[in-house]
Amino acid sequence: MKVLIPILIGLLVVACRGLLPTPTEPAIEKAQNETPSNGDEKNSTKVKLVKELTPEEQDAVKSGISARASDRLGNWGKIMRGKAEFYSASDVSDSNINLTKKWYEVASKAWGNYGPLEFWIVGSSKAAAEELDKKYCDIRKQKDPTISLKHCLNRGHNFVSYAKEGNAGLNTRRSENERWSGFIITMSAKFPGPEEEDYKSVVLHEYFHVYQHAHIHSRKHSERESMNQKNPWWGEGGAEYMAKLLYSKQKGIRPGYLKENMKRKLRSLENLRAGESIKDIPYGKRGMIAYDLGAWFIAFLINKTSEEAYRVKFYRDLNIEGFEGSFIKNFGSSSKDFLDEFHNTFLKLNLADKMKILP
Ligand SMILES: [Zn+2]
Repeated sequence: MKVLIPILIGLLVVACRGLLPTPTEPAIEKAQNETPSNGDEKNSTKVKLVKELTPEEQDAVKSGISARASDRLGNWGKIMRGKAEFYSASDVSDSNINLTKKWYEVASKAWGNYGPLEFWIVGSSKAAAEELDKKYCDIRKQKDPTISLKHCLNRGHNFVSYAKEGNAGLNTRRSENERWSGFIITMSAKFPGPEEEDYKSVVLHEYFHVYQHAHIHSRKHSERESMNQKNPWWGEGGAEYMAKLLYSKQKGIRPGYLKENMKRKLRSLENLRAGESIKDIPYGKRGMIAYDLGAWFIAFLINKTSEEAYRVKFYRDLNIEGFEGSFIKNFGSSSKDFLDEFHNTFLKLNLADKMKILP
């Protein structure tokens, strides 16, 4: 029992971390740090001893141990037949839901249908968002009986926060201690709202994260983080560029769309410090620089290799080779060499020459 208690506490801490909406992210252009909220939850949970748990919670923790084995043979990373599930607050219109579905279809058709995936669409009513939170926790409990309803309902960044603050976010659930692995995308009524053009490319952006994370099979946090890189330059740069690129290729989108958006991202160059690498910029206040110039890095990489090498081959080999191994195998040099050339040569070109690498 002496050994069991620390294990149970450990499990609970990790399990509860997973209840957070986690990497709430920029939607559009506000990078947010995912770490602090995780940290808070972790600390507040740590104090709770197993003996303070209700019998139901204790059972949940215990059954979590065997739950881990249950989807070891699951379908993570495989193209799925089942479509994403859509949930929405009562003040969200049908046209808003259909718009989100439409852009999910565009993304999954282009990049493959991965999941399990849920979309949660929040409007601007806080009361409706609160109702949706209840529904959300019911669904969480249905899909993973080991979670604590109470913790789910009390989680830090819930749908009411989305109703107040707007933004979009992706919560990737895959850990050693959770029974259910999957993706939860939240869309809201502002920053961007459904009437804005950005709403569409944000759906694509979030979905590209699904694609990225579906190609990392490990349940270990450290391995997952290393394969997608801890700082935003790689994962966010990729999601941002691929979203804008795919959007620009849709029928009826003005021909200058991609160039216009990418040109705007170059404003972040002013905030890059002398000698600073985008790779070293964390999420948080200056994170946007890494989103913007990271998108340029992916454009640069694709221009030097191919979209196939980046989107298909790199991700295909990622699990086996790891980040650097797959990078060298598919792009022909190390990430350091590519980053050096990007900073020392490409970013120093004039605007017209930079724009030439875009399709
Ligand atoms: Zn993102």
